[in-house]
Amino acid sequence: MRSPGVNKRKHAIVVGASMGGLLTARVLSNHFEKVTIIEKDVVHRVAGSRKGQGHTSHLHGLLPSGLEIILKYFPGLQQEMVDHGASVVDFAESMNWYSYGGFKKRFVIGIEAIGITRPLLEHLVRERVLALPNVNLVDNTSVKQLITSEDRLEVTGVTAEGKGRGDTSFIASDLVVDATGRGSRSPQWLKEMGYGETQASEVKVNVGYTTRLYKRDPDDPLGKNWIYCSPRPPHEKRSGAVFAVEGNRWMVTVGGWHGENAPLDEKGYLEFVNSLPHKDIYDIVSRSEPLSELIQYKFSSSVRRHYERFSRFPSGYLVLGDAITSFNPIYGQGMTSAALQSVELDKLLNEKIAGRELTKTYFKRTAKIIDRIWLMATGEDFRFPETTGNRPFGINLVNKYIERIHLASITDEVVCAAFLKVMGLLKPPASLFYPGILWRVVTAKVKK
Ligand SMILES: Cc1cc2nc3c(=O)[nH]c(=O)nc-3n(C[C@H](O)[C@H](O)[C@H](O)COP(=O)(O)OP(=O)(O)OC[C@H]3O[C@@H](n4cnc5c(N)ncnc54)[C@H](O)[C@@H]3O)c2cc1C
Repeated sequence: MRSPGVNKRKHAIVVGASMGGLLTARVLSNHFEKVTIIEKDVVHRVAGSRKGQGHTSHLHGLLPSGLEIILKYFPGLQQEMVDHGASVVDFAESMNWYSYGGFKKRFVIGIEAIGITRPLLEHLVRERVLALPNVNLVDNTSVKQLITSEDRLEVTGVTAEGKGRGDTSFIASDLVVDATGRGSRSPQWLKEMGYGETQASEVKVNVGYTTRLYKRDPDDPLGKNWIYCSPRPPHEKRSGAVFAVEGNRWMVTVGGWHGENAPLDEKGYLEFVNSLPHKDIYDIVSRSEPLSELIQYKFSSSVRRHYERFSRFPSGYLVLGDAITSFNPIYGQGMTSAALQSVELDKLLNEKIAGRELTKTYFKRTAKIIDRIWLMATGEDFRFPETTGNRPFGINLVNKYIERIHLASITDEVVCAAFLKVMGLLKPPASLFYPGILWRVVTAKVKK
């Protein structure tokens, strides 16, 4: 539906200046005269983790689909990443992925992957966004409430408070996007506005992350290859990953599901790394010089908020990124999910959809994006009997098939390529069931 007021898009507010908020601001800058990002932390214009995003000190892989989107919105950013020391590699040629008793087949797939820390990635994206003439960042300021029209049918701005200053300001806007992450107060705000409870799905995984940076010799025999060591559920629960990141460093993250956290003492940590299904990560940590302390992050559950299920929702108000769905981070989907949502928002605004229709269509379309990512992530999590939540229908059967894909990927390049494209969110999961792939998977001679 074309709204009569569609040409009057003056001011948009994005709450949260992390990856979800920055990508949203980039998209909105095409459609609004002015975009204001409001962030509760002080944002230093350098590559570093802030208080409100402690998770960003841990290993962050950007899936190929997310990289593709970011490079589309920020042409030339890949070269900037490389200039800052990030490594660009072929996704499949640089892969050392051990799972189900073997390494997946390595070959050139023609899809690029990037080895970069999350703070550097975010810094480079942020600098590009803040260089846009109509985007402005207000940091050290927390959004406390939404302002609505008298009938509460429309969100018309936000109430923001300068941290430590106690000054409250009322900022008017035509659109507010909540990108405040997992701790988003949208459910509470909606309830206070009389819209009722937000339905949510939760899948408990009790995942632990322990991360450390190590010195990387530029002549290291491993080159800039990435390592992922995943468990064979349900008995194995430990996993680990290593990326070559800027500053000639390895970023090593180990952990696991359902309480399998690597201890923070040296001896316990090394024993944990040595107990992973393959020894290649142990090999790196035992021969490399540590450059940081061990840091830990605990992630209890994946949480999805079903804004698409509201029969009434105020116009001028959207939610994006982890604020809608916070996925088990082990699958590296969060930033790409946020990027896909921002692309959808861009499309809707290009279609000149506005008002209540914008809200309704946005949540409907983003729900479709989230559906498939949620299914992939929680489906894997339900391989562990300790995982609790709503089991997707038929998941045991699907998981058996995916297990065969993992096994076939050890020897079959075609199956492996199909799997990596789905995992990288470039292709839908249904593509793994296309006849050409299905036949190869079911007839593959696999080691049980
Ligand atoms: C341990 C861990 C590892 C992960 N690894 C990966 C990975 O490998 N790959 C991947 O793609 N994703 C990964 N993720 C997920 C990824 O970090 C998020 O999906 C991504 O940061 C996008 O989140 P966001 O911008 O929506 O929210 P967040 O990153 O949580 O940011 C929310 C922002 O909002 C601000 N804020 C909050 N409340 C207010 C307020 N009231 N007013 C103003 N500002 C506010 C916060 O300070 C923060 O800056 C991982 C997550 C975790 C926890």
